[in-house]
Amino acid sequence: MLQANFQNLMPLMQNMQHILQKNMETEQKLSDIMHELAHFFNANMSALYVAVEANYLELFSNDGFDIDDIPTNVRFGEGLIGEIATQEQILSQTQPNKSCVSMVGAPLMLWDKVSGVVVLGYTQKHLFDEMEIDTLKTISMFLATFFSSEEISNYKRKLAKSRGFNIKDRLKGLPLSKGYGVGAALVHMRRHAVRELFTQNIAQELTLLETARTQMIESLNTSFNQNVLNAGEHIEILQTYQMLANDKGWYQKISAYIKTGLTAEAAIEKTYDDMREKLSLSSDIYLKERLNDLRDISDRLRSFISGDYLKKDKTLKDFVLVAQNMGPADLMDYDPKHIRALILEDGTSTMHVSIVAKALNIPVVSKIKGLYKNVKDGEILAVDGTEGFVYINPPDEIKKNFEERQKKISDWRTDLKQISLKPSKTRDGKNISLNMNIGLDFDLEYFKLANCDGIGLYRTEIPFMSALKMPGVSEQVRIYKKVLNQARDKHVIFRSLDVGSDKLLPYWGDLKEENPAIGWRSIRITLDRRALLRSQMKAFLKSCAGRQLDVMFPMISSYNEFIEAKNTLLLEYEKQRQNGNMLPTKLNIGLMIEVPSVIFELDEILKEADFISVGTNDLAQFIFASDRTNPRLENRYDVLSAPFLKVMQSIIIKANQYHVPCSVCGEMASVPVEIIALLGLGYRIFSCTGSAFTAIKKTVRSTHINDLRDYVQHLLRSNKKTLRPQLVAYAYDHGIAI
Ligand code: PEP
Ligand code: MG
Repeated sequence: MLQANFQNLMPLMQNMQHILQKNMETEQKLSDIMHELAHFFNANMSALYVAVEANYLELFSNDGFDIDDIPTNVRFGEGLIGEIATQEQILSQTQPNKSCVSMVGAPLMLWDKVSGVVVLGYTQKHLFDEMEIDTLKTISMFLATFFSSEEISNYKRKLAKSRGFNIKDRLKGLPLSKGYGVGAALVHMRRHAVRELFTQNIAQELTLLETARTQMIESLNTSFNQNVLNAGEHIEILQTYQMLANDKGWYQKISAYIKTGLTAEAAIEKTYDDMREKLSLSSDIYLKERLNDLRDISDRLRSFISGDYLKKDKTLKDFVLVAQNMGPADLMDYDPKHIRALILEDGTSTMHVSIVAKALNIPVVSKIKGLYKNVKDGEILAVDGTEGFVYINPPDEIKKNFEERQKKISDWRTDLKQISLKPSKTRDGKNISLNMNIGLDFDLEYFKLANCDGIGLYRTEIPFMSALKMPGVSEQVRIYKKVLNQARDKHVIFRSLDVGSDKLLPYWGDLKEENPAIGWRSIRITLDRRALLRSQMKAFLKSCAGRQLDVMFPMISSYNEFIEAKNTLLLEYEKQRQNGNMLPTKLNIGLMIEVPSVIFELDEILKEADFISVGTNDLAQFIFASDRTNPRLENRYDVLSAPFLKVMQSIIIKANQYHVPCSVCGEMASVPVEIIALLGLGYRIFSCTGSAFTAIKKTVRSTHINDLRDYVQHLLRSNKKTLRPQLVAYAYDHGIAI
């Protein structure tokens, strides 16, 4: 990589000065300056955030970042950019988002206050040395001074106006469910105080209770049976809610209070109060949620008694629900198709209504003080559930932008959903197991919709890379359980920590290796730092207590290395057993085929492995001796060439001989034309990235393996540098979707 001339900042400063003096729009000036900056630091992208309020930043200029990869607004302390502002220092992160491998940012300090943040992004691994950091500091000072100018202040105001945030009209809350929605405000009914406490007519109150009970149960059955929800945690929530609503003991307690002379409404409240007294002391989130449910059911029953429920208008369209608090059943009373967003003044992510709203793809924002009281029915609201903003009476530009973004989200959802309903079979009826690679939380979004066979590669290093310090066992268990909960009954293949080379832990510093790709990385690190490997194995075992555990070791270079790693896991397993802890129901231990040497030891290894998975990214780098991170080598060798395909063929033949499942989880499994070759070679199990899933499944479903097999064998005899054009032509001729 070219080194910038850090000794001499003058040319850069002069260029920036020159840009500033030009007679052009401020927006263009900012963009040119950021471009210069990126160029100077050999970065592929740059962005500028300006503090528009005491504690949040707004994106002012973006040069090269995919707009979905960086936030348009950030609260101080939120993510890398927010942390830079809070800590007031230069920070970097590895793999902060999909398109960026390294990112570094610096605060712009003006009179001891953060006035903004500049960030640089790299598509390749980039390590900042001290000289570069010093240079970035100096340049940030210069930029901070420039951004205090009259010109920028005016621009700030102009931008604020065009984006529709005169701060009174734009409120920042807590995002609870992603997405964008625009609609007329609909304030959810407030709870009424009990109208009458005592009754002379006990029989009448008992009848009122009985009628309300029947009506409520019937209405719940109708709204919960709308078939708008897929399987998931939210279904259990709704079922438990229904059970509560049917609970005979609850009605008996209410009836008993009526018999002492209370009205039905007062008796419901009294029963709730009794329960609240019992449960409110508990710090258990589950019990607190039960209490919320009971609050909600009590209100609901009362609304049937007062008749308010039946007066509700259920025919509204395109609205944004605003509530102080609400239960899941309240949400289901409305037609989910027409709820554009939900704003909850007191909402949290574990609240049942948030979970159900998320399952219905309704954007949710909470913790916006005062909105519930002040907003009027019919006022237009634009809700950004991704960043947590609500705009009151937004300008057309925002409305349009939100509607477009939401359409994009729902289009890919529809595509993925449609394909997920179809079997994963080739045209000649061969079943193909399609799994997904997971690393970033975002990948789980795809997983939930795709109805794939499981998680074929869970890159555990990703949460390690985005943490600020090394996660301990309990933190790891929390992270893994989150993934397991999303996977439900499907398998998750946990890969042990695969760091080093292009994947660096920010809190570990630079390992300063001459040849990082073939250096101290991955299993080599974790076998040497055994405590780290053991803590991860322990976290896996604990997370999978009572269910199957699949563990895979990366970068294994020899039989002995695999056995050492396997024994480390077995040792931890034994410890768990001796301590009487609950164990996984089944343990599958496998390895990745990434280093060529193990291909020559497969006879021994396959007797010990429960499964193998080919990491074609690393395998290709080692087969061709070609650094996968070096852009100069990017198109020099192709995995679609006879040598590499022969290697792939030798692996699947051996795996089949020993009846050991063998998948491909490297990038080859995410590229349609490459999957065709793999199908022809005999591979039947794949794990691809979420964004490629729809395309891969279409390819699989349009391939006829019997026809393909001979053609791929014919290609193996070719000495062409790449067989890509041949395979593309074959796909066209045979109607295979690529
Ligand atoms: C691979 O090398 O193909 C692989 C899947 O691992 P990673 O890309 O995470 O190194
Ligand atoms: Mg790899």
